[in-house]
Amino acid sequence: MLKELEPPTWLMDLSLWSQRLGERKSLLLLCSTLCLAALALAQLVISLLGFGDRLAAGICATVVALGLSLTLGKTMLSLMAQLEQSRLHLKRYSSTDLLTGVVNRRAFLNLIEREWALARRYETTCALVIIDVDYFKRVNDSFGHSCGDMLLRQLAEAVSETLRQGDVLARFGGEEFMLFLPHTDPLGALDVAERIRARVEYLDFCWNGHCIPVSVSLGVASLQGDHFSLDQFVNAAEDALLTAKASGRNCVRVGEGVPPGNLGGPGGSSWAAEHRHG
Ligand code: GH3
Ligand code: MG
Ligand code: MG
Repeated sequence: MLKELEPPTWLMDLSLWSQRLGERKSLLLLCSTLCLAALALAQLVISLLGFGDRLAAGICATVVALGLSLTLGKTMLSLMAQLEQSRLHLKRYSSTDLLTGVVNRRAFLNLIEREWALARRYETTCALVIIDVDYFKRVNDSFGHSCGDMLLRQLAEAVSETLRQGDVLARFGGEEFMLFLPHTDPLGALDVAERIRARVEYLDFCWNGHCIPVSVSLGVASLQGDHFSLDQFVNAAEDALLTAKASGRNCVRVGEGVPPGNLGGPGGSSWAAEHRHG
């Protein structure tokens, strides 16, 4: 959809080129080109007609071209700069979740589709972690939607702090976030998920003087040979999340192919922590 809204390529190239050159130089170049073209045209017309004052025609053509290029050219260049700014804003907003500032679902799926295909082709590891706030509806019902919104913002911030460069966090749905971990093996993914769970558990979330306990449930899926489509990969993470919810929430559960373990959470033993050095 964004592609349809984009200006033609030649206009983007021109805009990029004029930005690189700077406003003054672009204007100078535009003026010189137009003046030369006007001068050449005036001489051509006189040659074709076979009579006329070449000097007077040249001066008139140059003055008109200079006037036009200075006024219209300046406007055109500033319009092009504005267009480029708007295009960049549009690009950013179309891929960002406006509430939390993380990547939105559409952009996330586009991004991981490519990463997923590369990981399958080159047989590298990667993982998905789905994060869902526990009993979020209760927060909304008890303290209002603004409180719920604030919680989502703080949560996204807290989770982002735990990530490495290259990991991608997205808001996948209402109170659901999805994390893509490139070049991460199953144990590494479990580690990350457990770190997030613990970070959120200790999140100091207060609203109007009330401190509200927050927890998340997490489902982990590692890329498997039988994940023939991205949907299957995402479904594996969602299935693991359902298991985490059914296991009492505030815990991490894994999809098929990830070593089983009762990670963290209430009464859980840290399987990843036990195996990290083993
Ligand atoms: P569970 O532990 O099973 O996940 O329960 P839950 O209450 O978290 O899940 P449920 O699906 O019952 O409720 C999710 C709620 O999230 C319902 C919806 O109104 C709310 N929600 C969705 N998007 C937003 C949002 O952008 N802001 C706020 N404040 N609430 C939202
Ligand atoms: Mg929830
Ligand atoms: Mg949910």
